[in-house]
Amino acid sequence: MPTKKTAAHSTFNWHDRLQYFTIRNDALIQTIREFVEIESPSDNKLAADRMGALLAARFEALGGRARTHRAEDYADNIQIDFPGRDHRKPVLLLGHFDTVYPLGTLAKMPCHIANGRLHGPGVLDMKSGVALMMSAIEALKTWHAGLPRPVTVFLVSDEEVGSSSSRQTTEALARESAAVLVLEPAAGTRGAVKTARKGVGDYTLTVKGVAAHAGLDPGKGHSAILELARQIAVISRFNHLKQGISVNPGVIRGGTRTNVIAAEATVEIDVRIKSAKQAKGLDRKMRALKPFDKPCKLVIEGGINRLPMERTAGVAALYKTAQAIAKEINWELEEAAVGGGSDGNFTAGIGIPTLDGMGGVGEGAHAIHENIVIAELPRRALLLAGMIESR
Ligand SMILES: [Zn+2]
Repeated sequence: MPTKKTAAHSTFNWHDRLQYFTIRNDALIQTIREFVEIESPSDNKLAADRMGALLAARFEALGGRARTHRAEDYADNIQIDFPGRDHRKPVLLLGHFDTVYPLGTLAKMPCHIANGRLHGPGVLDMKSGVALMMSAIEALKTWHAGLPRPVTVFLVSDEEVGSSSSRQTTEALARESAAVLVLEPAAGTRGAVKTARKGVGDYTLTVKGVAAHAGLDPGKGHSAILELARQIAVISRFNHLKQGISVNPGVIRGGTRTNVIAAEATVEIDVRIKSAKQAKGLDRKMRALKPFDKPCKLVIEGGINRLPMERTAGVAALYKTAQAIAKEINWELEEAAVGGGSDGNFTAGIGIPTLDGMGGVGEGAHAIHENIVIAELPRRALLLAGMIESR
């Protein structure tokens, strides 16, 4: 907790600290800008590896020791360890440097400042979050003549595509840590931190029907499209919004020509759940789907990828600490439960206290108007520094 005792250890009080970050805000914006202007789509290893290498170098310049976790399909994941002045377990700062934007996006969506906001691809999700980690670490080193406790930074390259290459390391590092702070964007423009996230899954249902000439042999065919349509109607009834379960058949494909009874049709389904308990039941329902038209075959693939981040006692305690730090500068820090998943779902899922949404405040993640509010940055940095100190 940010008691008077904690504050007395440092040369600054909280208002002085806010001032410290405010004075340095232009430099932080420059850093964020530099990161945004290096395009790093998840699916382009060559491009994203450039971003990872730059980040490794920048964090090493702050006194960390960088380690590269090789990945084949995506850019390498980057771990940076910072020693601390005591031997508490480290705090894990979790982030990702991949974005959803393909190479060349900057030409259509240049990084620029307008109305107090910095715009650009990935500026909110989450290059500003990575830059905030650097600000907080640098500040703590200045205030304490060295980091007050060990910090591990883990920057992953594939968060936007499910984290298959990084998940194991994320979980292993979390297990060795006192707490996990995730630098994903804050929820909403009031800057709430995220204390609960829904679990996320993907399913693909493929119907294999029997093709036939639609004019000559209509009785011989068994339409995969017709069967799929009926299955989608069944699947849509798995929705239970009150309980926090949502099921969205978002993409369909099927058939070849209008005069052919379709041999195959597919639907891709996004599912969200609120509690881990719901995963099994929903999965069972998906796998129990039976064809209406018996000669049709159903193939169901996929599953729940991220279990929900639930608001456990550990999560609530982290939020309480964050709230108390915010209060020191007269800031009422809110919390939010959100539908989207992040790597915080993994670390919370294995029982490590996790606070998410510690990054930038803005709007339009993954969209053409993606931006952050420049004036929010100093207090985000202050909150992060305070949290690292206090756990
Ligand atoms: Zn993100």
